[in-house]
Amino acid sequence: MFRVDLHLHTVFSSDSTISPKLVVEQLYKHASVKGVAITDHNTLDGYFQVNKLANVYEDVVVLPGIEVGTEKGDIILLGVEEKPKTPTTLDSVIDFAKTTDGVIVIPHPYRSLGIGDLAMNVEAHAVEVLNPTATSEENIMAQNLARTRKLPGVAGTDAHHPEELWTTFTEIDTQPDRESVLNTLKKGAVKAFAVHSSKMTKLEGGKFHSRN
Ligand SMILES: [Zn+2]
Repeated sequence: MFRVDLHLHTVFSSDSTISPKLVVEQLYKHASVKGVAITDHNTLDGYFQVNKLANVYEDVVVLPGIEVGTEKGDIILLGVEEKPKTPTTLDSVIDFAKTTDGVIVIPHPYRSLGIGDLAMNVEAHAVEVLNPTATSEENIMAQNLARTRKLPGVAGTDAHHPEELWTTFTEIDTQPDRESVLNTLKKGAVKAFAVHSSKMTKLEGGKFHSRN
């Protein structure tokens, strides 16, 4: 099982205080979470920085990612190394992901900046069912959505500050390399999500497993 945080912001997002260096250093030292998707707001610059710094560490995996703001709410794309063209509408971002073979994740569907009920129909590979910046109710609604749509539920910290790092992660049954992780996400073979923050464990349930 490979543990990865699929939602993280660096200082390349204007509202984050997390440096690329800190991400790499903490990921390298972390006992169990060894992967991260850098999902800055509307830019891949943070990903490129983190990826460059991580090159010298063999056992950390950095996934390209971007959280794109659309007129309907946010969408996360993983596995693409270019930005969708502006203006970024929900439809144009989904089309872009399809042409670039990106993984589409619906982040915090019922939180502010989420796409809300559009999440019922939008084309996606996974739903973010655990985000510490959303309320328990909003996360439970997202879990129900994932079950209804039979999409894998994934977890991300949505960390913007150092103390929020590594509080949540997704467990994926895959080899610890970028291509395997992305391909497994595309196939929906996410076995579980897990958290190790005690305040979040109450959200476990259903088909999801929790390991502390
Ligand atoms: Zn975010």
